[in-house]
Amino acid sequence: MGQELSCLSSHEHDLFSAVQHGDTETVRTMVERDSALLHQTTPYDRQSLLHIAAANGQIGILSMLLDQSLYPDLLNRRRQTPLMLAAMRGKIFCVKKLLDAGANVLKFDSLNGRTCLHYAAYHGHADCLQAILSSAKSSHVAASWGYARFVNVRDGRGATPLHLAARQRRPDCVHILLDSGALVCASTDEYGHPGSTPLHLAARGGSLDCVRELLAWGADRLQRDNSGRIPYSVAMTHMHKVCAALLDPSSTEPLVWPSPLKFISELNQDAKVLLERALMQANKERESRILEGKAISVSPSHSEAGEDSDILEANDSNLCTICFEQVCTIQVQNCSHQLCAHCTLSLCCHNKPNPNTASLTPPVCPFCRGPIARLTVAEFGRSNDPDHDVNDISSSKLRRTRRSRNLSEGSCSFRGLSSSVGSLGKHGGFGSGRIAVDDDDLTEKP
Ligand SMILES: [Zn+2]
Ligand SMILES: [Zn+2]
Repeated sequence: MGQELSCLSSHEHDLFSAVQHGDTETVRTMVERDSALLHQTTPYDRQSLLHIAAANGQIGILSMLLDQSLYPDLLNRRRQTPLMLAAMRGKIFCVKKLLDAGANVLKFDSLNGRTCLHYAAYHGHADCLQAILSSAKSSHVAASWGYARFVNVRDGRGATPLHLAARQRRPDCVHILLDSGALVCASTDEYGHPGSTPLHLAARGGSLDCVRELLAWGADRLQRDNSGRIPYSVAMTHMHKVCAALLDPSSTEPLVWPSPLKFISELNQDAKVLLERALMQANKERESRILEGKAISVSPSHSEAGEDSDILEANDSNLCTICFEQVCTIQVQNCSHQLCAHCTLSLCCHNKPNPNTASLTPPVCPFCRGPIARLTVAEFGRSNDPDHDVNDISSSKLRRTRRSRNLSEGSCSFRGLSSSVGSLGKHGGFGSGRIAVDDDDLTEKP
Protein backbone atom coordinates (compact mmCIF):
# COMPACT_ATOMS: atom_id res chain seq x y z
CA MET A 1 0.00 0.00 0.00
CA GLY A 2 2.85 2.35 0.84
CA GLN A 3 4.46 1.90 -2.55
CA GLU A 4 1.22 2.59 -4.25
CA LEU A 5 0.80 5.85 -2.46
CA SER A 6 4.02 7.15 -4.02
CA CYS A 7 2.60 7.09 -7.56
CA LEU A 8 -0.39 9.27 -6.73
CA SER A 9 -0.84 12.99 -7.30
CA SER A 10 0.04 14.91 -4.17
CA HIS A 11 -3.63 15.73 -3.55
CA GLU A 12 -4.66 12.06 -3.63
CA HIS A 13 -1.59 11.11 -1.70
CA ASP A 14 -2.61 13.47 1.10
CA LEU A 15 -6.06 11.92 1.24
CA PHE A 16 -4.94 8.28 1.36
CA SER A 17 -2.17 9.08 3.77
CA ALA A 18 -4.64 10.87 6.08
CA VAL A 19 -6.94 7.84 6.02
CA GLN A 20 -4.06 5.49 6.72
CA HIS A 21 -2.86 7.54 9.67
CA GLY A 22 -6.25 8.30 11.14
CA ASP A 23 -6.26 12.05 10.49
CA THR A 24 -10.04 12.38 10.62
CA GLU A 25 -10.17 16.17 10.33
CA THR A 26 -8.12 16.29 7.13
CA VAL A 27 -10.23 13.55 5.57
CA ARG A 28 -13.45 15.28 6.58
CA THR A 29 -12.32 18.62 5.18
CA MET A 30 -11.13 17.14 1.89
CA VAL A 31 -14.27 15.06 1.38
CA GLU A 32 -16.55 17.99 2.21
CA ARG A 33 -14.75 20.09 -0.36
CA ASP A 34 -15.00 17.42 -3.06
CA SER A 35 -17.39 14.54 -2.41
CA ALA A 36 -16.11 12.67 -5.49
CA LEU A 37 -13.02 11.91 -3.41
CA LEU A 38 -15.13 9.43 -1.43
CA HIS A 39 -14.98 7.08 -4.39
CA GLN A 40 -11.28 7.51 -5.03
CA THR A 41 -9.26 4.29 -5.21
CA THR A 42 -5.53 3.61 -5.38
CA PRO A 43 -4.34 3.22 -8.99
CA TYR A 44 -3.15 -0.37 -9.08
CA ASP A 45 -4.75 -2.36 -6.23
CA ARG A 46 -7.93 -0.28 -6.40
CA GLN A 47 -8.12 0.03 -2.63
CA SER A 48 -10.96 2.31 -1.59
CA LEU A 49 -10.79 4.67 1.37
CA LEU A 50 -12.79 2.07 3.26
CA HIS A 51 -10.22 -0.64 2.54
CA ILE A 52 -7.38 1.55 3.77
CA ALA A 53 -9.25 2.57 6.92
CA ALA A 54 -10.26 -1.04 7.70
CA ALA A 55 -6.80 -2.51 7.10
CA ASN A 56 -5.21 0.10 9.36
CA GLY A 57 -7.80 -0.12 12.11
CA GLN A 58 -8.87 3.52 11.69
CA ILE A 59 -12.27 3.10 13.29
CA GLY A 60 -13.02 6.85 13.43
CA ILE A 61 -12.54 7.32 9.70
CA LEU A 62 -14.25 4.05 8.90
CA SER A 63 -17.33 5.16 10.85
CA MET A 64 -17.31 8.55 9.16
CA LEU A 65 -17.11 6.96 5.71
CA LEU A 66 -19.91 4.51 6.48
CA ASP A 67 -22.00 7.40 7.79
CA GLN A 68 -21.60 9.00 4.34
CA SER A 69 -23.42 5.84 3.20
CA LEU A 70 -20.43 4.38 1.47
CA TYR A 71 -21.23 0.81 0.41
CA PRO A 72 -19.50 -1.53 2.93
CA ASP A 73 -18.74 -4.27 0.39
CA LEU A 74 -16.56 -2.33 -2.06
CA LEU A 75 -14.13 -4.64 -3.88
CA ASN A 76 -10.47 -4.05 -4.58
CA ARG A 77 -8.48 -5.54 -7.44
CA ARG A 78 -8.45 -8.99 -5.78
CA ARG A 79 -12.14 -8.76 -4.98
CA GLN A 80 -11.35 -8.39 -1.31
CA THR A 81 -13.84 -6.49 0.85
CA PRO A 82 -12.85 -4.06 3.62
CA LEU A 83 -14.16 -6.72 6.03
CA MET A 84 -11.64 -9.27 4.74
CA LEU A 85 -8.77 -6.83 5.25
CA ALA A 86 -9.90 -5.96 8.78
CA ALA A 87 -10.23 -9.68 9.63
CA MET A 88 -6.80 -10.37 8.15
CA ARG A 89 -5.15 -7.66 10.24
CA GLY A 90 -7.16 -8.41 13.39
CA LYS A 91 -8.83 -5.01 13.54
CA ILE A 92 -11.74 -6.12 15.68
CA PHE A 93 -13.47 -2.73 16.05
CA CYS A 94 -13.47 -2.26 12.29
CA VAL A 95 -14.75 -5.82 11.83
CA LYS A 96 -17.64 -5.13 14.20
CA LYS A 97 -18.41 -1.76 12.65
CA LEU A 98 -18.50 -3.23 9.14
CA LEU A 99 -20.71 -6.11 10.27
CA ASP A 100 -23.07 -3.63 11.94
CA ALA A 101 -23.15 -1.67 8.68
CA GLY A 102 -24.38 -4.83 6.94
CA ALA A 103 -21.15 -6.06 5.32
CA ASN A 104 -21.67 -9.36 3.53
CA VAL A 105 -19.76 -12.25 5.16
CA LEU A 106 -20.28 -14.44 2.11
CA LYS A 107 -18.09 -12.62 -0.40
CA PHE A 108 -15.26 -14.62 -2.00
CA ASP A 109 -11.98 -13.02 -3.06
CA SER A 110 -10.42 -13.80 -6.45
CA LEU A 111 -7.07 -14.68 -4.92
CA ASN A 112 -7.91 -18.03 -3.29
CA GLY A 113 -11.70 -17.91 -3.28
CA ARG A 114 -11.73 -17.15 0.44
CA THR A 115 -14.25 -15.45 2.70
CA CYS A 116 -13.67 -13.15 5.67
CA LEU A 117 -14.03 -16.23 7.89
CA HIS A 118 -11.06 -17.84 6.13
CA TYR A 119 -9.04 -14.67 6.64
CA ALA A 120 -9.75 -14.52 10.38
CA ALA A 121 -8.97 -18.23 10.83
CA TYR A 122 -5.81 -18.18 8.73
CA HIS A 123 -4.36 -15.19 10.54
CA GLY A 124 -5.49 -16.42 13.94
CA HIS A 125 -7.69 -13.53 15.06
CA ALA A 126 -10.09 -15.38 17.33
CA ASP A 127 -12.04 -12.26 18.31
CA CYS A 128 -12.70 -11.37 14.67
CA LEU A 129 -13.62 -14.98 13.90
CA GLN A 130 -16.12 -14.98 16.76
CA ALA A 131 -17.63 -11.66 15.67
CA ILE A 132 -18.11 -12.91 12.10
CA LEU A 133 -19.69 -16.16 13.30
CA SER A 134 -22.07 -14.32 15.65
CA SER A 135 -23.09 -11.99 12.86
CA ALA A 136 -23.60 -14.88 10.43
CA LYS A 137 -25.79 -16.65 12.95
CA SER A 138 -28.22 -13.76 13.18
CA SER A 139 -28.08 -12.54 9.59
CA HIS A 140 -29.68 -13.62 6.35
CA VAL A 141 -26.73 -15.99 5.81
CA ALA A 142 -28.10 -18.39 8.39
CA ALA A 143 -31.51 -18.29 6.74
CA SER A 144 -30.43 -18.58 3.11
CA TRP A 145 -27.21 -20.58 3.22
CA GLY A 146 -27.49 -22.27 6.59
CA TYR A 147 -25.18 -21.47 9.48
CA ALA A 148 -23.49 -24.91 9.53
CA ARG A 149 -22.72 -24.60 5.85
CA PHE A 150 -21.20 -21.18 6.39
CA VAL A 151 -18.94 -22.47 9.22
CA ASN A 152 -17.69 -25.11 6.78
CA VAL A 153 -17.43 -22.83 3.74
CA ARG A 154 -14.68 -23.96 1.34
CA ASP A 155 -12.14 -21.84 -0.49
CA GLY A 156 -11.02 -22.38 -4.10
CA ARG A 157 -8.92 -25.40 -3.12
CA GLY A 158 -11.46 -26.98 -0.83
CA ALA A 159 -10.09 -25.72 2.48
CA THR A 160 -12.52 -24.84 5.25
CA PRO A 161 -11.61 -22.20 7.86
CA LEU A 162 -10.82 -25.12 10.20
CA HIS A 163 -8.24 -26.52 7.77
CA LEU A 164 -6.51 -23.14 7.61
CA ALA A 165 -6.55 -22.59 11.39
CA ALA A 166 -5.11 -26.07 11.98
CA ARG A 167 -2.37 -25.58 9.38
CA GLN A 168 -1.42 -22.13 10.68
CA ARG A 169 -1.22 -23.28 14.32
CA ARG A 170 -4.19 -21.32 15.64
CA PRO A 171 -5.63 -23.39 18.52
CA ASP A 172 -8.05 -20.69 19.70
CA CYS A 173 -9.61 -20.45 16.27
CA VAL A 174 -9.67 -24.25 15.97
CA HIS A 175 -11.58 -24.40 19.25
CA ILE A 176 -14.14 -21.75 18.29
CA LEU A 177 -14.75 -23.34 14.90
CA LEU A 178 -15.22 -26.84 16.34
CA ASP A 179 -17.54 -25.44 18.96
CA SER A 180 -19.53 -23.76 16.19
CA GLY A 181 -20.06 -26.96 14.25
CA ALA A 182 -17.00 -27.22 11.99
CA LEU A 183 -16.63 -30.74 10.61
CA VAL A 184 -13.61 -32.26 12.30
CA CYS A 185 -12.99 -34.88 9.59
CA ALA A 186 -13.59 -32.84 6.42
CA SER A 187 -11.03 -33.51 3.66
CA THR A 188 -9.61 -30.82 1.40
CA ASP A 189 -9.73 -31.08 -2.39
CA GLU A 190 -6.32 -29.67 -3.30
CA TYR A 191 -5.26 -27.61 -0.31
CA GLY A 192 -2.13 -28.98 1.39
CA HIS A 193 -1.83 -32.54 0.25
CA PRO A 194 -5.13 -33.45 -1.43
CA GLY A 195 -7.54 -35.17 0.90
CA SER A 196 -5.96 -33.71 4.06
CA THR A 197 -8.09 -33.50 7.18
CA PRO A 198 -7.61 -30.75 9.79
CA LEU A 199 -5.61 -33.33 11.78
CA HIS A 200 -3.22 -33.90 8.85
CA LEU A 201 -2.71 -30.15 8.61
CA ALA A 202 -2.18 -29.72 12.36
CA ALA A 203 0.38 -32.54 12.16
CA ARG A 204 2.05 -30.71 9.29
CA GLY A 205 2.11 -27.44 11.24
CA GLY A 206 3.33 -29.20 14.36
CA SER A 207 0.98 -27.44 16.78
CA LEU A 208 0.44 -29.65 19.80
CA ASP A 209 -2.48 -27.51 20.99
CA CYS A 210 -4.25 -27.85 17.65
CA VAL A 211 -3.69 -31.62 17.66
CA ARG A 212 -5.11 -31.80 21.20
CA GLU A 213 -8.19 -29.78 20.30
CA LEU A 214 -8.92 -31.84 17.22
CA LEU A 215 -8.46 -35.17 19.03
CA ALA A 216 -10.69 -33.98 21.87
CA TRP A 217 -13.37 -33.27 19.28
CA GLY A 218 -13.16 -36.75 17.87
CA ALA A 219 -10.73 -36.36 14.94
CA ASP A 220 -9.88 -39.77 13.52
CA ARG A 221 -6.21 -40.72 13.77
CA LEU A 222 -6.69 -43.38 11.11
CA GLN A 223 -8.22 -41.24 8.37
CA ARG A 224 -5.98 -41.20 5.29
CA ASP A 225 -5.32 -38.45 2.77
CA ASN A 226 -5.41 -39.13 -0.98
CA SER A 227 -1.83 -40.46 -0.86
CA GLY A 228 -2.79 -42.92 1.85
CA ARG A 229 -1.02 -41.20 4.73
CA ILE A 230 -2.37 -40.93 8.25
CA PRO A 231 -1.64 -37.77 10.32
CA TYR A 232 0.99 -39.71 12.28
CA SER A 233 3.19 -40.16 9.20
CA VAL A 234 2.82 -36.50 8.31
CA ALA A 235 4.02 -35.47 11.80
CA MET A 236 6.93 -37.93 11.56
CA THR A 237 7.96 -36.64 8.14
CA HIS A 238 8.18 -33.13 9.53
CA MET A 239 9.93 -34.17 12.75
CA HIS A 240 7.14 -33.09 15.08
CA LYS A 241 7.83 -35.87 17.57
CA VAL A 242 5.49 -34.88 20.38
CA CYS A 243 2.57 -34.46 17.97
CA ALA A 244 3.49 -37.78 16.39
CA ALA A 245 3.42 -39.53 19.77
CA LEU A 246 -0.18 -38.41 20.32
CA LEU A 247 -1.14 -39.22 16.75
CA ASP A 248 0.35 -42.70 16.91
CA PRO A 249 -2.67 -45.01 16.49
CA SER A 250 -1.20 -47.35 19.10
CA SER A 251 -1.24 -44.62 21.79
CA THR A 252 -4.07 -44.41 24.31
CA GLU A 253 -7.13 -42.70 22.84
CA PRO A 254 -7.86 -39.29 24.35
CA LEU A 255 -11.21 -38.52 25.92
CA VAL A 256 -13.58 -37.01 23.40
CA TRP A 257 -15.95 -34.16 24.19
CA PRO A 258 -19.39 -35.82 24.29
CA SER A 259 -21.00 -33.29 21.94
CA PRO A 260 -23.84 -35.54 20.69
CA LEU A 261 -25.42 -35.61 24.17
CA LYS A 262 -28.31 -33.21 24.35
CA PHE A 263 -27.49 -31.79 27.79
CA ILE A 264 -23.89 -31.23 26.70
CA SER A 265 -24.96 -29.17 23.70
CA GLU A 266 -27.19 -27.14 26.03
CA LEU A 267 -24.59 -26.40 28.73
CA ASN A 268 -24.38 -22.86 29.99
CA GLN A 269 -21.05 -21.11 29.63
CA ASP A 270 -19.83 -21.62 33.21
CA ALA A 271 -20.58 -25.34 33.34
CA LYS A 272 -19.02 -25.74 29.92
CA VAL A 273 -15.79 -24.08 31.01
CA LEU A 274 -15.56 -26.45 33.99
CA LEU A 275 -16.10 -29.56 31.90
CA GLU A 276 -13.80 -28.45 29.10
CA ARG A 277 -11.08 -27.80 31.61
CA ALA A 278 -11.59 -31.23 33.18
CA LEU A 279 -11.37 -32.82 29.74
CA MET A 280 -8.15 -31.04 28.86
CA GLN A 281 -6.66 -31.93 32.24
CA ALA A 282 -7.56 -35.60 31.89
CA ASN A 283 -6.12 -35.68 28.38
CA LYS A 284 -2.91 -33.97 29.47
CA GLU A 285 -2.47 -36.64 32.11
CA ARG A 286 -2.86 -39.31 29.46
CA GLU A 287 -0.43 -37.41 27.29
CA SER A 288 2.26 -37.30 29.92
CA ARG A 289 2.04 -41.08 30.25
CA ILE A 290 2.23 -41.53 26.48
CA LEU A 291 5.24 -39.25 26.23
CA GLU A 292 6.91 -40.90 29.20
CA GLY A 293 6.42 -44.28 27.57
CA LYS A 294 8.06 -43.00 24.41
CA ALA A 295 10.82 -41.30 26.38
CA ILE A 296 10.02 -37.90 24.92
CA SER A 297 10.56 -35.07 27.33
CA VAL A 298 7.85 -32.48 27.53
CA SER A 299 8.93 -28.90 27.56
CA PRO A 300 8.12 -27.00 30.78
CA SER A 301 5.36 -25.06 29.08
CA HIS A 302 3.35 -28.25 28.79
CA SER A 303 3.81 -29.45 32.32
CA GLU A 304 1.64 -28.41 35.18
CA ALA A 305 4.60 -27.84 37.47
CA GLY A 306 4.24 -24.97 39.88
CA GLU A 307 0.49 -24.81 39.71
CA ASP A 308 0.12 -26.52 43.04
CA SER A 309 1.75 -23.74 44.96
CA ASP A 310 -1.30 -21.88 46.17
CA ILE A 311 -3.70 -24.56 47.14
CA LEU A 312 -7.06 -23.79 48.59
CA GLU A 313 -8.13 -26.15 51.33
CA ALA A 314 -11.48 -27.45 50.28
CA ASN A 315 -14.19 -27.96 52.78
CA ASP A 316 -14.59 -31.73 52.99
CA SER A 317 -18.33 -31.39 52.79
CA ASN A 318 -17.85 -30.26 49.18
CA LEU A 319 -15.90 -33.36 48.20
CA CYS A 320 -17.25 -35.46 45.37
CA THR A 321 -18.59 -38.70 46.81
CA ILE A 322 -17.60 -40.75 43.78
CA CYS A 323 -13.86 -40.06 43.69
CA PHE A 324 -13.33 -38.44 47.11
CA GLU A 325 -10.59 -36.41 45.41
CA GLN A 326 -12.23 -33.48 43.76
CA VAL A 327 -14.65 -30.79 44.78
CA CYS A 328 -18.24 -30.98 43.55
CA THR A 329 -18.61 -28.36 40.87
CA ILE A 330 -21.39 -29.77 38.73
CA GLN A 331 -25.01 -30.28 39.65
CA VAL A 332 -27.40 -32.64 37.90
CA GLN A 333 -30.88 -31.33 37.15
CA ASN A 334 -33.60 -32.00 38.06
CA CYS A 335 -32.48 -34.15 41.02
CA SER A 336 -29.80 -31.67 42.25
CA HIS A 337 -27.20 -34.36 42.95
CA GLN A 338 -23.67 -33.00 42.81
CA LEU A 339 -20.38 -34.42 41.59
CA CYS A 340 -17.05 -33.14 40.35
CA ALA A 341 -16.38 -32.13 36.75
CA HIS A 342 -14.02 -35.09 36.25
CA CYS A 343 -16.58 -37.65 37.32
CA THR A 344 -19.28 -35.92 35.26
CA LEU A 345 -17.09 -36.10 32.22
CA SER A 346 -16.11 -39.66 32.89
CA LEU A 347 -19.81 -40.52 33.12
CA CYS A 348 -20.54 -38.85 29.76
CA CYS A 349 -17.45 -40.00 27.86
CA HIS A 350 -17.98 -43.49 29.20
CA ASN A 351 -21.20 -43.47 27.24
CA LYS A 352 -19.64 -41.84 24.23
CA PRO A 353 -21.64 -42.99 21.26
CA ASN A 354 -19.89 -44.91 18.58
CA PRO A 355 -20.53 -42.95 15.37
CA ASN A 356 -21.03 -46.25 13.56
CA THR A 357 -23.83 -47.37 15.80
CA ALA A 358 -27.00 -45.38 15.82
CA SER A 359 -28.20 -46.36 19.28
CA LEU A 360 -27.19 -43.98 22.01
CA THR A 361 -28.13 -44.45 25.64
CA PRO A 362 -27.73 -41.16 27.44
CA PRO A 363 -26.06 -41.46 30.86
CA VAL A 364 -28.20 -41.20 33.98
CA CYS A 365 -27.48 -39.61 37.35
CA PRO A 366 -25.07 -42.00 39.14
CA PHE A 367 -26.85 -41.48 42.46
CA CYS A 368 -30.55 -41.74 41.73
CA ARG A 369 -30.34 -43.15 38.19
CA GLY A 370 -32.79 -40.49 37.11
CA PRO A 371 -32.50 -38.90 33.67
CA ILE A 372 -30.18 -35.90 33.33
CA ALA A 373 -32.15 -32.93 32.06
CA ARG A 374 -29.40 -30.38 32.47
CA LEU A 375 -25.96 -29.91 34.03
CA THR A 376 -25.32 -26.68 35.89
CA VAL A 377 -22.57 -25.26 38.06
CA ALA A 378 -22.98 -26.53 41.62
CA GLU A 379 -23.91 -24.04 44.28
CA PHE A 380 -21.38 -23.92 47.08
CA GLY A 381 -23.71 -23.37 49.98
CA ARG A 382 -25.61 -20.35 51.16
CA SER A 383 -22.81 -18.79 53.14
CA ASN A 384 -20.79 -18.17 49.99
CA ASP A 385 -20.55 -14.76 48.51
CA PRO A 386 -23.42 -14.59 46.04
CA ASP A 387 -21.26 -12.55 43.67
CA HIS A 388 -18.58 -15.20 43.52
CA ASP A 389 -16.80 -15.63 40.27
CA VAL A 390 -17.36 -19.14 39.00
CA ASN A 391 -14.03 -19.24 37.22
CA ASP A 392 -12.18 -18.26 40.38
CA ILE A 393 -13.79 -20.98 42.39
CA SER A 394 -13.41 -23.64 39.81
CA SER A 395 -9.77 -22.99 39.14
CA SER A 396 -8.73 -22.82 42.77
CA LYS A 397 -10.81 -25.77 43.83
CA LEU A 398 -9.90 -27.95 40.91
CA ARG A 399 -6.29 -27.19 41.59
CA ARG A 400 -6.58 -28.65 45.06
CA THR A 401 -6.71 -32.14 43.65
CA ARG A 402 -3.48 -31.95 41.78
CA ARG A 403 -1.64 -32.17 45.07
CA SER A 404 -2.75 -35.69 45.76
CA ARG A 405 -2.37 -36.87 42.26
CA ASN A 406 0.69 -38.41 40.80
CA LEU A 407 0.73 -37.50 37.13
CA SER A 408 1.90 -40.92 36.08
CA GLU A 409 -1.16 -42.52 37.63
CA GLY A 410 -3.53 -39.73 36.75
CA SER A 411 -5.18 -41.51 33.97
CA CYS A 412 -5.41 -44.76 35.93
CA SER A 413 -7.28 -42.95 38.65
CA PHE A 414 -9.46 -41.50 35.94
CA ARG A 415 -10.20 -44.92 34.61
CA GLY A 416 -10.90 -45.93 38.18
CA LEU A 417 -13.52 -43.24 38.28
CA SER A 418 -15.21 -44.62 35.24
CA SER A 419 -15.46 -48.02 36.80
CA SER A 420 -16.64 -46.67 40.12
CA VAL A 421 -19.28 -44.70 38.28
CA GLY A 422 -20.21 -47.88 36.50
CA SER A 423 -20.39 -49.95 39.67
CA LEU A 424 -22.42 -47.30 41.42
CA GLY A 425 -24.84 -47.55 38.60
CA LYS A 426 -24.95 -51.34 38.89
CA HIS A 427 -25.55 -51.36 42.61
CA GLY A 428 -28.04 -48.62 42.46
CA GLY A 429 -25.47 -46.38 44.12
CA PHE A 430 -28.15 -44.58 45.96
CA GLY A 431 -27.77 -42.39 48.97
CA SER A 432 -24.19 -41.23 48.70
CA GLY A 433 -24.91 -38.36 46.37
CA ARG A 434 -24.51 -34.86 47.56
CA ILE A 435 -27.51 -32.70 47.12
CA ALA A 436 -27.63 -28.95 46.77
CA VAL A 437 -27.91 -27.29 50.16
CA ASP A 438 -31.29 -25.77 49.54
CA ASP A 439 -32.67 -29.28 49.51
CA ASP A 440 -32.17 -29.79 53.25
CA ASP A 441 -34.15 -32.97 53.69
CA LEU A 442 -32.01 -34.86 51.21
CA THR A 443 -28.64 -33.56 52.34
CA GLU A 444 -26.33 -36.05 53.95
CA LYS A 445 -24.38 -34.59 56.78
CA PRO A 446 -20.83 -35.87 56.76
ZN1 LIG B 1 -15.44 -36.99 41.46
ZN1 LIG C 1 -29.67 -37.74 40.92
